[in-house]
Amino acid sequence: MTQLRAVRGMNDMLPADAALWNHFEAVVRDWLKGYGYQELRTPILEHTGLFKRAIGEVTDIVEKEMYTFEDSLNGEILTLRPEGTASCVRAAIEHNLLFDGAKRLWYMGPMFRHERPQKGRYRQFHQVGVEALGYAGPDLDVEHLLMGARLWKRLGLAEFVQLEINSLGGAESRARHRQRLIEYFEAHEGELDEDARRRLYTNPLRILDTKNPAMEALVAAAPRLMDELDAEALAHFETVRQGLEDAGIPYRVNPRLVRGLDYYNYTVYEWVTERLGAQGTVCAGGRYDGLVGQLGGKATPACGFAMGVERLLALMAEAGGAPPQEPLDAYVVNVGAGVARFALQAAEALRDAGLRVALHCGGGSFKSQMKKADASGARYAVILGEDEARAGELGVKPMRMEGEQQRLALSAAAALMKKD
Ligand code: ATP
Ligand code: MG
Repeated sequence: MTQLRAVRGMNDMLPADAALWNHFEAVVRDWLKGYGYQELRTPILEHTGLFKRAIGEVTDIVEKEMYTFEDSLNGEILTLRPEGTASCVRAAIEHNLLFDGAKRLWYMGPMFRHERPQKGRYRQFHQVGVEALGYAGPDLDVEHLLMGARLWKRLGLAEFVQLEINSLGGAESRARHRQRLIEYFEAHEGELDEDARRRLYTNPLRILDTKNPAMEALVAAAPRLMDELDAEALAHFETVRQGLEDAGIPYRVNPRLVRGLDYYNYTVYEWVTERLGAQGTVCAGGRYDGLVGQLGGKATPACGFAMGVERLLALMAEAGGAPPQEPLDAYVVNVGAGVARFALQAAEALRDAGLRVALHCGGGSFKSQMKKADASGARYAVILGEDEARAGELGVKPMRMEGEQQRLALSAAAALMKKD
C-alpha cells in the first residue's frame, strides 16, 4: 500500500515545536491586549469573488495562487482564503461592525496559496493580522509600526528585523505614475518577461513587484511613485516618518517597495530579515483606504498588517528558541493488584488541587516506571502500591532535589508539591 502523506506544501505542527508556537501565540495575545485590539475569526472558505475584488484580478495571488473550486453540492465557486484582510473587511460590512465608530481588530489562522514550496514559503501557512478600520491616520499608521517594533522586542527578534517603508500616494498620483510606467516599459519592451508584458496595460505597478532577477535592473531604473506624490500624501508620509523618529525606530525608505495586493495606498511597509535567505519578509502591511468602499461598505479609511508565523518561528528558533517550559509537578507511579484504580482517582484529585500531573499508564515494573518518572522531568514521583491504596495515602518522592520519600494524605501531598 502506498504511504499516506500530507498535501505538498502543507505542514504538520509537531509536538517538538509546540512550545515555541505556544510561546509565540501567548506573547501575541498579550501584546494585542496592550493596544486594545479585539479578535475576529472568519471562515477559511469564502466566495471567490471577494478575493478577486479585494486583492485585484491582475495579481500573483488571484492569477495563480488561489485554491479555487466548485462546491460539488451546490455549484458555488469558493476559495480557500489566501489572506485575511478581505475577509475581515467583508465581515465588518456584513455585521455592520463600524456602526458605532472605528474598530481595532486582529485575527490569526491558516492561509492558503498555491506557491512553489520552499523554505519559508508553504501552501498552507499562518498569519497574524492586525486591522484598524475607520482611522484616516497617520497616527494609526504610526501605531501599527510601533506595535511591530514592540512585538519584535518581546519575541527577542529586535536585532534581526529591519523596517522598510514607502508611500504609494493617492489615486491621482498612482494614475500619473501608471502612465509614466507604461511609457517607460513600452520603451523597453524587449526586456520584459512574459508576466510583465501581460501586465503592461492591466496592472503595470505589479511589474515592479517582479521576482525575476533578469528584470531587476530594468525595474530599479523605472519611474518612482515617490516622485509623483501630491502635497497631502507627502505630508502624511512625513508624519509617519516623524512618528518613527520620535520613537527611535530605525527605518529605510525604499521607493521600490510595492505590495503584492492591489488595495494599498499611501503608507506601505515591510519588516525584513537577512537571516532567512530569500524569504526574508516576516511582516507586511499598509493603508487601504479604498477597500471598504470597494467591497460595498460606506467609504472608510483603514490600515493593517499581517505577519508570516512560520517565518517568525524560524527566526525565533535561530534566536534561541522557546523559553524553558514549566515542568510537570508529579508523575504517578502505580504498581500492584487493583492500584491502578486508586492511582486514577489520586491523579484527578491532585489536578483538582491545581497540580500538573502525568499518570503512568500501561503497567510495568516499579523500576521501569521510576525511569519514566525521571524522564518526564516531573518535580516529584507519586508512588502508589497496595499499602498506599489500602490506606488512601500517597508516597511522595522529590526527583529534582535531595529528600526522602514521605507518606502523606492527599491534601498534605498536594500542599507539599505546590509549596516550592
Ligand atoms: P512574498 O513577497 O514573500 O510572497 P507576499 O507579499 O505575498 O509575500 P503578504 O500577502 O503581504 O505576502 O503576506 C504577509 C506575510 O505572510 C508575508 O510577509 C510572509 O511573511 C507571509 N507569507 C506570505 N506568503 C507566504 C507563504 N506562501 N508561506 C509562508 N509565509 C507566507
Ligand atoms: Mg507572495
